Amino acid sequence: MLREYDVAVLGIGMAGSIAAFIASMRGCDVAILARGYGATALSSGCIDVLGYVNGNYVRNTLKGLKELELTNPKHPYIVIGRGWKGAKEILSNAFNNLPRELNMLYEGNLEMNMSVLTQFGTYKPTSFIQRTMKNSTLTKCREFRKILVLGIKEYLEFDPQLFTSFISKFLQNTEFCIKFIVDKIKLDLNNVQDLSSITISQLITEPKIFKKLKEELCRVVVKRNPDLVLIPAILSTESREAVTQLSELESSCKCVISELPASPPSVPGLRIQNLLLEILRNREIDIYLCREVKASIHNSKCTSIKCIRSYHDMKVIEIRSRNFIIATGDIISGGIQSTYSIENEAIIKEYKEPILNMPLYIPIQRKFIDIDIFNTEKHSILEIGIEFDENLRPIFGNEVLFDNLYVAGSILAHYNFIAEKSGLGVAIATGYKAGIEASKT
Ligand SMILES: Cc1cc2nc3c(=O)[nH]c(=O)nc-3n(C[C@H](O)[C@H](O)[C@H](O)COP(=O)(O)OP(=O)(O)OC[C@H]3O[C@@H](n4cnc5c(N)ncnc54)[C@H](O)[C@@H]3O)c2cc1C
Repeated sequence: MLREYDVAVLGIGMAGSIAAFIASMRGCDVAILARGYGATALSSGCIDVLGYVNGNYVRNTLKGLKELELTNPKHPYIVIGRGWKGAKEILSNAFNNLPRELNMLYEGNLEMNMSVLTQFGTYKPTSFIQRTMKNSTLTKCREFRKILVLGIKEYLEFDPQLFTSFISKFLQNTEFCIKFIVDKIKLDLNNVQDLSSITISQLITEPKIFKKLKEELCRVVVKRNPDLVLIPAILSTESREAVTQLSELESSCKCVISELPASPPSVPGLRIQNLLLEILRNREIDIYLCREVKASIHNSKCTSIKCIRSYHDMKVIEIRSRNFIIATGDIISGGIQSTYSIENEAIIKEYKEPILNMPLYIPIQRKFIDIDIFNTEKHSILEIGIEFDENLRPIFGNEVLFDNLYVAGSILAHYNFIAEKSGLGVAIATGYKAGIEASKT
């Protein structure tokens, strides 16, 4: 089966989806191919744009860019903006042109970071939070008299007691003097003891179980008399349904309720990914979910990608396109693969971009992973990636590798989404820019 498009995108995470959306909005015939879901579906659901530069907390995101240019001039924001001022403009344009459905899911702004609480009992800087989490920031929590942190007996991954002891420690000696009380409810889910948040989220779409959740919430609100209840993220993975569920719970209990950003498997992460899929389908973009992708390359004066081959619906599919975008993510989603070999009793670790075998930037430090997942300075494995120019074309030295290929998202080198808190922000900004560049004739 042979198909021809103006733009073909590899990867259906935030970067690939935004790139495909923008190219389609600019009149291109677009296809998107992916193996499945990646890091976007695992994310806590908040859109981080720039939370830390050089380990320092960033209050004003756009001002943080100026500092970023000084400390990391090769950062994707700075390179595509040709400096911090241009980066500011690209970010503003990218967020102003987000699909309407995605905008409706979020609250926040590009100027000031919020400190949002997480299910771990920590807080982190972020720019946009989902509407169902809108009261889960430190500033909002301060407005409430009595905050109840509510666990669910069948959901062992979230312990309200542990949450409270962690967050109370973190808030000691800060301006945020917030007190929390804790309780747990039981949903009586066929005596199952340990469910994932995603399973609970699916179960509560059943009216009988949702009614039980509502009754239990009302009971605990009457007993404890809070004015805000923080719950783990267990509402629907469909964004509109989640907002409806939340307002139904709030009006029954006569109390404000807010979800906490989650760890994987993450309901809010899946909520974004489901919404992206809906947005792409609404724009009639052809989506091919496939196991393996192989590229065929054409060499003449310059190197171009001729086509992408894959298997879809048990058939071999060949996709030809004027331009291609690769947004296959980092080591977490398989956009970059690592292999081990043993030579002279030493372990040799190698990294590879599997579709086009493009050369990768690898930082010199060898301590790639840190056991402390909250460490804002480590995990330099995330900086491994493809080097790129200001138009997001892949480069090696000063040489552009393919004249019809653009790169976006976490497969890019020179940024570290954990250290900077910039994951979905970079995916959106570079997806937007790649979508514009690839749609040019
Ligand atoms: C646990 C966790 C929590 C996070 N929390 C946050 C957060 O709260 N806020 C935030 O801003 N960021 C967060 N991030 C970071 C953020 O999720 C990522 O930076 C962002 O989602 C990257 O988007 P992407 O589109 O580049 O890649 P991905 O979303 O990983 O998408 C990659 C796509 O490429 C496809 N793919 C991979 N290899 C191939 C192949 N060979 N052929 C075809 N398709 C392929 C995958 O199937 C997938 O569709 C988190 C990340 C993780 C892992």
